[in-house]
Amino acid sequence: MAQPAVEDTPSGKDRPRPAFTSTDPRTGEFVGSHPVHSAAEVAARVAVARIAAGWWAGLGFAERKERLDAWRKLISRRVEDLVTLMCAETGKPADDARLELVLVISHLHWAAGNAERVLRRRGVRTGMLMMNQVATIEYQPLGVVGVIGPWNYPVFTPIGSIAYALAAGNTVVFKPSEYTPGVGVWLADTFAEVVPEHPVLSVVTGSGETGAALCRSGVDKIAFTGSAATGRRVLAACADTLTPVLMECGGKDALIVDEDADVAAAAEAAVWGAMANAGQSCAGVERVYVVDSLADEFVGLATDRARTLRVGAHPGADIGPMTVPSQVDVVRSHIADAMARGGQAVVGGLDSVRSPYVEPVVLVDVPQDSIAVTDETFGPTLVINRVRNADEAVELANASRYALGASVFAKARGPELAAKLRAGMVSVNSVLSYAAVPALPFGGSGESGFGRIHGEDGLREFTRAQSVTRQRFRPLLRAMTFVRGGRTVRKLLRLVRLRYGR
Ligand code: NDP
Repeated sequence: MAQPAVEDTPSGKDRPRPAFTSTDPRTGEFVGSHPVHSAAEVAARVAVARIAAGWWAGLGFAERKERLDAWRKLISRRVEDLVTLMCAETGKPADDARLELVLVISHLHWAAGNAERVLRRRGVRTGMLMMNQVATIEYQPLGVVGVIGPWNYPVFTPIGSIAYALAAGNTVVFKPSEYTPGVGVWLADTFAEVVPEHPVLSVVTGSGETGAALCRSGVDKIAFTGSAATGRRVLAACADTLTPVLMECGGKDALIVDEDADVAAAAEAAVWGAMANAGQSCAGVERVYVVDSLADEFVGLATDRARTLRVGAHPGADIGPMTVPSQVDVVRSHIADAMARGGQAVVGGLDSVRSPYVEPVVLVDVPQDSIAVTDETFGPTLVINRVRNADEAVELANASRYALGASVFAKARGPELAAKLRAGMVSVNSVLSYAAVPALPFGGSGESGFGRIHGEDGLREFTRAQSVTRQRFRPLLRAMTFVRGGRTVRKLLRLVRLRYGR
C-alpha cells in the first residue's frame, strides 16, 4: 500500500504538497505517486463538477449515450494498458483483470443504451378520481455523485455506480481506494479524452480522510463500496448534510448443494467462487452447505480442485497475493479460529498464510459460531459444512448478519430454494452469474448494505423522481377548494366506496 511521501507542486516553487505512493503487492515496487487531496481540494473539485453537471444533463440522453459509447470503445481498445495497471496495483492475475473488464464493457453498454428508456418522462394512469388530469413521471439527475470505491475490483465495482450515474445525467467525483489510485486516475483521464469540455468524471486521491471529505462536500449522493465498518462512518458523515447514501458492503455468501445437484459442477464452481481474485470478492463463495448424501464426494472434488491452484506472481498463476497486507492477518485469524473450535483443514491450514500470499485453504465441519462462518474472510478459503437437507442449508445460510449473494446447486428445487434465501442475488447452478447480467440489480441488505447498482434500479438510484400532473379540464366534483359545495366531499366518498370499498 500507500507509503507517505512528499511531492513538489508542478512549479516546484510552492510548498511541498502531501502525496502517497501505490506499490505492487507482488514485489513491493513503486507503481505511482498521487496527491493526497485535502478537504478544500475535494470541495473545489465538487464545485467544478457541479458546474459541469448542468452542461452534462443538458446534453440529453442521446448525446450522453454517444459519449459513453465512445468511452466504452476507448476502454475496449486500451484494455491491455488498464490490465497492466490493475495487475500492478492489486497483484491480480492478468486474466482476472481482463474478465473484470469484460463485465465493465458490458455494463457500460447497458447503462448508456437503456438510460433513456428507463428514465425519460412517461405518462401514468391517473385513476378515476383524477381523470381530469394527465400525469407523468420522469427521473431527473441528482447533480454530483461521489463514488468511493474499493481495491478488490478497482474498475468493475466503481463502474457499477459511475456508468449508471453518468448515464442518468450526473457528474461524478470518484475517490478510488488508496491501494488503486492509478486505476481511478486512468478512468478519469480516458473519460476526459471523449468528454474534454468539462470534468464530468473527475478523481480525488488520498486515504480515508479524502473519502470522508467527499462525504461532507455537499455532493448529492454518495455511492460507497467497502466494509460495513467504514460504511457506518460514511453514513454518519453523510447524516450531517442529509446526503443520501448507497451502500455496497461485504458478504458471507453461501452456496447450497441439494441432493440432486450436479456435484462436480457444484464443487468446481464453489472453488472458483471462493478463491478467484484470491477470495477478495464481496459476493465470493465463503460457505458451502452440502447435503449429507453428497458431502463426501463434494469435499473430495473441491479438495482436488483447490490443490491444483497455482499461487504466485508468475504468468500462469491462478491466484495472486492479498492486495492489502492487513487482510492477511484477518484470513489467518479466521483459519485459526475455525481449527481451534474443531474445524478441520482438508486443504492447507495456518501454514498456507505466507504474506503477501495465502495458499488455498478448505475447512470442513466448522462450528456455526466460528468467525470463519460469521465474518467476511475475504481470502482464498472455503468452509464446507454438512447438513441433513436443503431446508437446513437455507436456515443456516440465512443465519448471517450479511445478506448479499448466494448460490444453489439443485435440479428439482433450484428456484424454490433461491426464493427462500435472504439474499439480494442468487445464482442457480452457477456462481456469481447475476453480476454479469447488466439488467439485474446488484446489492444486499443487513450488514451487506442497501440500495442497488446495475439494471433499472441502478439507474434510478442516481435520480430523483419528479411527478407532474396537468389539469386538462375542471373536475366534475370540485373537492380541493374552499368554495366546494356542501355535499361535494360526501358525493365523492360515495363514489369511492362504490368503486373501491366493496
Ligand atoms: P474500507 O471499507 O476501509 O475502504 C473502502 C473505501 O472507503 C476505500 O476507498 C477507502 O479509502 C474509503 N474510506 C476509508 N475510510 C473512509 C472514511 N472514513 N470515509 C469515507 N471513505 C473512507 O475497506 P478496506 O480496504 O479496509 O477493507 C476491509 C474489509 O472490507 C475487507 O476485509 C472486506 O471484508 C471489506 N471489503 C468489501 C468490499 C466489497 O466489495 N464489498 C471491498 C473492499 C473491502 P482508502 O482505501 O483510501 O482508505
